[in-house]
Amino acid sequence: MCEYTYSNGKKCRRKPLKGSKYCSLHIPFEEGELLYGDRIKYIKKRAFERALERGIRNFEGVKLYDVIIVGKEINEALIFRNSIIKRLVIVTSKIKSLSLIDTTIDTLVIVNSEVDFFYVNGGSIYGVSICSVKFSSSILFRDSSIRYVMINSTEFSPKEVTTEEEFGEKVRIAGRIELANLKDVRRIALNSKYPLMAKIMEEFGIKLSLDRKKPVRVHTLTITGVEFDESPRFRKQVRIFINRFSGQLIFENLSVPGHVEIVNSRVRYPEFVHVIIHNNLVLRNTRLYSDENWNLAYLPNLLAELNVYGFIVIDNCQFNNPYLAEVFYRIARTTWEGSGDKENADEYYYLEMLARRKKVIQHYRKGPRTLKKMVKLLEVLFEFLFADLTCKYGTDWKRPVFLWMGLVIFVFPVFYALTKSVVPTSSLFDYVYFSIVTATTLGYGDLHPIGVGKVIASIEAIFGMFMWAVFLTVFARKYMR
Ligand SMILES: [Zn+2]
Repeated sequence: MCEYTYSNGKKCRRKPLKGSKYCSLHIPFEEGELLYGDRIKYIKKRAFERALERGIRNFEGVKLYDVIIVGKEINEALIFRNSIIKRLVIVTSKIKSLSLIDTTIDTLVIVNSEVDFFYVNGGSIYGVSICSVKFSSSILFRDSSIRYVMINSTEFSPKEVTTEEEFGEKVRIAGRIELANLKDVRRIALNSKYPLMAKIMEEFGIKLSLDRKKPVRVHTLTITGVEFDESPRFRKQVRIFINRFSGQLIFENLSVPGHVEIVNSRVRYPEFVHVIIHNNLVLRNTRLYSDENWNLAYLPNLLAELNVYGFIVIDNCQFNNPYLAEVFYRIARTTWEGSGDKENADEYYYLEMLARRKKVIQHYRKGPRTLKKMVKLLEVLFEFLFADLTCKYGTDWKRPVFLWMGLVIFVFPVFYALTKSVVPTSSLFDYVYFSIVTATTLGYGDLHPIGVGKVIASIEAIFGMFMWAVFLTVFARKYMR
C-alpha cells in the first residue's frame, strides 16, 4: 500500500510504484525522476487520467506534472487538496466545480470552458489565466499567493437567479469574481494581451479560436486585501488593469504600489474603500453608473477612502448622473492641485463645476417647483452667464478678452449705428471709437449718446468694467503666483 496519509487519517490504498513506498500519484517528483527518469511524467499522466476515468474527483496530496483536461464533461466537483501540479490546463470542458485547496501550481490555464464554480483557497499559483470561460456561480480566489491573475472574455451566465443573506444584507452571491487576501501579486489584468497562453496552447497542440473582443461581464468584481509584490522592479508597473469590463467594481483594503487602469469599461457602482494607489489611477473611455441611493451612501466618502499619490486621469469618460461625475472630477482635481499642475487642475475644476450645475438643474426638475428651487435655478443661470460664459469658471483668460473685443468692436457699434443714437458722427469708425471709449469708461465727451443710445451705453460701461475685472482676476489667478 502507498504510504501517503490523507488529512482524515486514512491511508492511500493505491499500489506503490516499484522501488518506492508511494503510488504513482503521490510519489514526489525527485524520487520519481530518480527511479524512472523522464518516464515518470508519462506514468503520472496515465495514472491521473485513469483515476479521472474511474470517477475519482477528489485528489489529495497528488504530485503531477501536466494535467490536461480537454473536451471533458465533469458533473461533480473536481477537487485538488494539498497537491502540487506543474501545469493545469483545462480546455473546451464543462466542469461543475473546480476547487484548488492549499495546492501549488505553476501555471493554471482554463480556456473555452464552462466552470460553474471555481474556488482557489490557500496554496500558491504563479500564473492564473482564464479565457473565454462561462460561470454560473462565482469565481473566488482567496488567501493564496498568486503572481499573475489574467481574466479574459469571461462571462457570468446564470442558471438561476439567487439571492442570499450576507451580514443581514441581501447580496447576490452569484456572478461574483472575488480576489481576496491574495499575496505576492504582481499583476491583475482583465482582457489584457497574454502571449504566454498562446505559447502554452501551441505547446500542447491545442488550436484556439478565442473571441478576444468579448468583455468580462460579471455581476461584481471584488478586489480586496490584495498584497502586491513590493520589489522595486515592479513598483512602477500597472498593477491592476481592467479592460472591457462590465459590472460592479469594488476595491477594498488595497495598497497598490503601481498604477491602476480602468479602460473601455462599463462600471456600475465603483466602490473604493480604504484604497491607496501609490502611482496613477487612469479612467479612460469608460462609462460609470450609479443611482441616487448609492450616491448618498458612498460618494461622500470617496474623497477620504480613495488616496492616490500620483494623478487621477479621467479621459473620455461618461457618467450617468452629474453627482457621480462631480465627485470623480473633484478627486481628480485635488491630485493635480497637490502636485502644482494648475493647467490640468483647472480642466478638472471646470468639468466639476459643469457637473455641479447639471446636478442642481436635475434636482430642480424633480418634484414640485418651490420658491427655494426657483432661486437656486436663478443662481445657476447667473453662474452660467457670469462665471462660465465669461471665463470658464476662471480657468480661461482668453474668453473674456475675445468676448470683450467681439462685443466692444463689433456688436455694440452695430447697435449704435442701427439706432443712430450717437452724435456727432462722420463715419462708421466713430461708432467703434465711441464704443471703446464707453467700455473703458474714458468718456471724453466729444461724442455722446442720445435716446436709446444712453441705455446701450450704460449697459456697455457696466459690461466693460465687469469684463476688465474678470480678465484681471483670471489672468492673475493663472499666471501670478
Ligand atoms: Zn498514494
